[in-house]
Amino acid sequence: MEGLPGGKGLNIAHEAVDRHADGPLRDHVALRWLGSEGATRDFTYGELKGQSNRFANVLRGLGIGKGDTVSVLADRIPELYIAALGTLKNTSVFCPLFSAFGPEPIYQRLSKGDAKVLVTSQRRYSQKVSHLMDTLPKLQHVLLVDAEDHLGKGLLSLPRLLAESSEVFSIPPTDPEDSAFLHFTSGTTGMPKGAIHVHNAVLTHYVTGKYVMDFHPGDIFWCTADPGWITGTSYGIVAPLLHGITNIIDEADFDAMRWCHILESEKVSIWYTAPTAIRRFMRLSLEPSRHYDLRHLRVIHSVGEPLNPEAVVWGQKAMGLPIHDNWWQTETGGIMIANFPAMEIRPGSMGRPIPGVEAAIVRRIDKDTVEVIEEPEIQGDLALRPGWPSMFRGYLHDEERYRKCFVGGWYLTGDLAKRDADGYFWFVGRADDIIKTSGHMVGPFEVESTLMEHPAVAEAGVIGKPDPLIGEIVKAFVALKPGINPSEELRLELIGFARKKLGSAVAPKEIDFQPNLPKNKAGKIMRRLLKARELGLPEGDLSTLENN
Ligand code: ATP
Ligand code: MG
Repeated sequence: MEGLPGGKGLNIAHEAVDRHADGPLRDHVALRWLGSEGATRDFTYGELKGQSNRFANVLRGLGIGKGDTVSVLADRIPELYIAALGTLKNTSVFCPLFSAFGPEPIYQRLSKGDAKVLVTSQRRYSQKVSHLMDTLPKLQHVLLVDAEDHLGKGLLSLPRLLAESSEVFSIPPTDPEDSAFLHFTSGTTGMPKGAIHVHNAVLTHYVTGKYVMDFHPGDIFWCTADPGWITGTSYGIVAPLLHGITNIIDEADFDAMRWCHILESEKVSIWYTAPTAIRRFMRLSLEPSRHYDLRHLRVIHSVGEPLNPEAVVWGQKAMGLPIHDNWWQTETGGIMIANFPAMEIRPGSMGRPIPGVEAAIVRRIDKDTVEVIEEPEIQGDLALRPGWPSMFRGYLHDEERYRKCFVGGWYLTGDLAKRDADGYFWFVGRADDIIKTSGHMVGPFEVESTLMEHPAVAEAGVIGKPDPLIGEIVKAFVALKPGINPSEELRLELIGFARKKLGSAVAPKEIDFQPNLPKNKAGKIMRRLLKARELGLPEGDLSTLENN
């Protein structure tokens, strides 16, 4: 990385695009877009520079400047990527919204995020936003990606504005601490929080791109996450471009055959996906490496949820490669703990901290103090020493909540984990999901992973159900593989199977079958919802629930 010309700071979009466009990678494909209807569009680094400059000029022309929020509600179309980079160049703040959100979550995020500009399509605008405009006084401009002409005051045609703007833009001085992204968390445990990230995050994106993703010149990378979630911006936009490689964007939603086809025909060399997708492959009993030519694929990574050991083993068998799990959060801005390609994978482990990141297992002593647990294999709170470049700088409009994340010189992640003697970290569960049963603390992940080892099980979600005698009992919800019918016999078999492996204190006492487990739009199992439904309690914020 080089910083902005003339020593005027550090800007993510300059590092990701202009630096390459002005050098030998000018004609190298930066983005390859695969449309859901079969169209393909390539953008070289040179073209991406020109397009993002145009977008930055559009913002400047509209009077949008440093720190103003630009939200995008769109499918994974090229305009989304151009808008992200152009917004960063203009030192405005990019806030992606997941395109399948309904009006309520959109309203919450536009309003909480103080959006001044919204980039969207005519259909989305009229279905989801137009009736909210009166309640969003800060929203000044809606830029429509598919309108040929301006439709009225505040309702503008993006193609027209882009065509009328110059391809030349000089990035204003950017302090590494200037805000760059506003990202809402996935809402797995409650109301989503708006995490603020700054330009300095680019350092983490670079380091993790190099050491975790293993980017090398000529690589073709595909991150399947939508930019509505932070993985889809940190690794779906920034990190691959920083390394000057080709980034594949698939507009379509999950489809196992399509995905196999993309891996083969695009010669993808590094693939970043999520347990939810891997479990869908497993459920279909697909063995892609048998039917597709995957010889270009070198590394597979996974993030978002714990990766069951069974999935790592499946990768080796069905993809011809193991799957490298890594752990991070919206708040951390980039990967923090990972099974690096350069080290031995321990199936079920999140791996080890990346260079420059200090992670520990701590125990809370009181409101202001924590104690580091030095001995291995003891469960505690997963904590990080603040100061890594991509650390969030705040929860928007929630200073108090932000402050509470930091105790005794550590950032507390809200996840529970263990560290083994070799420094590998093992996810136990979210602090909210831990089950207290007969004096044991049971993490749902361990129980879910064991159930997944049974050939009939496609997915499992485990909760604690209050019990007057033992505190909570372990209860599992299980989705079966296609063609397998739920029965009392199978239920007992699964309980026996889990008991044998986990012991009776930890194994589920109750199992319910469900055709599908409730997940949020980022694909994460929503245990809090399983629990609320089980107990007949209010379901809480469901703005990110899938198929909601
Ligand atoms: P919210 O904070 O709104 O409840 P969320 O925590 O799901 O939602 P994200 O920031 O998208 O929002 O997810 C980060 C969380 O996902 C982590 O704190 C952890 O619980 C889980 N997670 C991510 N990657 C892994 C992994 N490799 N192994 C285990 N858990 C993971
Ligand atoms: Mg969280």
